[in-house]
Amino acid sequence: MIKRSLEQLAEMFEFDRDILDRFGDVEISGVCIDTRKIEQGNLFVPFKGEKVDGHTMVRDAFEKGASAALWEKEVPNPPEDLPILIVDSSLIAVQELSKSYRNQLDLKVVGVTGSNGKTSTKDMIYSILSQKYAVQKTEGNYNNHLGLPLTLLSLKETTEVAVLEMGMSGRGEIEFLTKLAKPDFAVITNIGESHLQDLGSREGIAEAKLEIAEGLDEDGVLIYFGDEPLLTSRLNKPLPYQTQSFGRSKENDVYPIHLKPTDSGTRFGVNILPETEFDVPVLGEHNVMNAMSALIIGHRLGLSAEQLVKGISGLKLTSMRMERLTGMKESVIINDAYNASPTSMRAAIKMAEEFEGCRNKFLVLGDMLELGDMEKQFHTEVGKTIHPDKIDEVFTFGPLSRFIAEGAKQNFSENAVHAFEDKEGLINLLKKKLGKNDLVVVKASRGMKLEEVVEALKN
Ligand code: ATP
Ligand code: MG
Repeated sequence: MIKRSLEQLAEMFEFDRDILDRFGDVEISGVCIDTRKIEQGNLFVPFKGEKVDGHTMVRDAFEKGASAALWEKEVPNPPEDLPILIVDSSLIAVQELSKSYRNQLDLKVVGVTGSNGKTSTKDMIYSILSQKYAVQKTEGNYNNHLGLPLTLLSLKETTEVAVLEMGMSGRGEIEFLTKLAKPDFAVITNIGESHLQDLGSREGIAEAKLEIAEGLDEDGVLIYFGDEPLLTSRLNKPLPYQTQSFGRSKENDVYPIHLKPTDSGTRFGVNILPETEFDVPVLGEHNVMNAMSALIIGHRLGLSAEQLVKGISGLKLTSMRMERLTGMKESVIINDAYNASPTSMRAAIKMAEEFEGCRNKFLVLGDMLELGDMEKQFHTEVGKTIHPDKIDEVFTFGPLSRFIAEGAKQNFSENAVHAFEDKEGLINLLKKKLGKNDLVVVKASRGMKLEEVVEALKN
C-alpha cells in the first residue's frame, strides 16, 4: 500500500500546503475510509455519508492509529492540532492521489470489464499470473469510482501485476476508471443486458464497455469476446492499440479446439497451445470463455504451458458463482444466486442442460432486476430457450419470473413448470420432488435472495 510523507503527498494531489511546515515529515501508510478498519499509520478519508459525517470520526481515527486525515474545506472547525489535509473534495483527492500513485508504480495493470463475468475473470487472471508474478487484485466488488482508487492505493511497491475490476452503471464511468488505472491489458468479458435501463440499448452497453480501451497506449492490448457482433463490428478498423479476440467461433484469435464437461467444470484445449489440456474447475462453458481471456494474458506475460495449466486448475471463485454443493438426499445443488441477467441466466441454463451424470434436473429461477421496459419480454424469452428434453422441471420465484414460467410452458408440459410468489411453497414442493443424484440450479438477481432456497436444500 502507499507509503509517503505528507511532503511527498503534496506533489501528488491538491491540498492546503500550510500544514507542511509543522507536519511535512509525517508518514502515511495506506488509506482508510472506515474508522473500524483503521490500521497504524493510515491516511483517514472522511466522507459525508447520508447517516454519518465522517468528519465527526476524524479524532477517533487518530486515536485508532491514523497518522493523517483529509478534511473537506466546507466543513467547519478542522482540528488544528493534528495533521489534517484540507481538500475541496475527499473523493476527488483520493482519485487524484491514486492516479499519481499508479503512475509512480512500475507494474503491469490488467483492467476487466463486461456485463457478466468480471469478478470470475479477474479471479482467473489472478490465479494464472500468480504462478509467476507477485499479483494483487480488486477485493470483492471494489470496482467503482471509489473502490478502484482505493484498490490502486492498496498496491504494494513490490507488486508486479494488478488485476482490477471495472464496473459501471452509465456512460463515461469506465472511461474515467481506465484513465485512472492506465491498464496494459483491458478485457471485455461480454455484452449482456445489465444496466439496459440506464444505457438504452445493447449497442449503448457495448460502447460503454469499449471505453475501457481509452486508457490503453499503443502497446496496450484489448482482449475481447469476439462472438459478440456489437464488439467486432466496432473494432473492425485501425485502432491506436492492439487487440486479441476470444470466443467459441474459429473466427477468433483464440478459440477452444475441444471442450468436455467434467464433474466440476470443463476440460478444454485452445488453438494457441494445441498440445495442452486445461481443466477449469468451475461449471459452465462461459467459464471457459473467461479462462481463455485469462490464458491470453498469461501467455503474453511469458508463463509456461505448465504454469498456465496449474493456474487454471487451482482457481478459486468467490462464493455463489456456480458454487457446487451437496444437497439433501445426495442431490447436487449449483448455487449461482449471486446475480442474474438474461445472458448469465442463459449461461446457467446451458450449463444445467449439458450437465452429465445426474437423474432429474430442476431449475430454480428468480427475477432478473433492472432490465427496464423490456423486462417481461426478457423473462419470457429466457423461459422459451429452456430445452424440455434436457431439463425436467422449472421452478420460478417472483412476479417477473412468472414470465419465465409462461415462456417455458410453450415447450414444457403444464405440470413441469411451477411459478411461485413465496419461497416456502417453492422449497416445500422441491423438497418433495428431490431425490438422489438430482441436479438443482439456482439463479436470480441478488435482490431475490435465492440463497435462502439453497440453504433450505443443503445437506
Ligand atoms: P457484478 O457486475 O455483479 O460485479 P461480475 O461481472 O463481476 O458481476 P461474476 O460475479 O463473475 O460477474 O459472475 C456473475 C454471474 O455471471 C455468474 O454467476 C455467472 O452465472 C455469470 N457469468 C460469468 N461469466 C460469464 C460470461 N462470460 N458470460 C455470461 N455469463 C457469465
Ligand atoms: Mg463483480
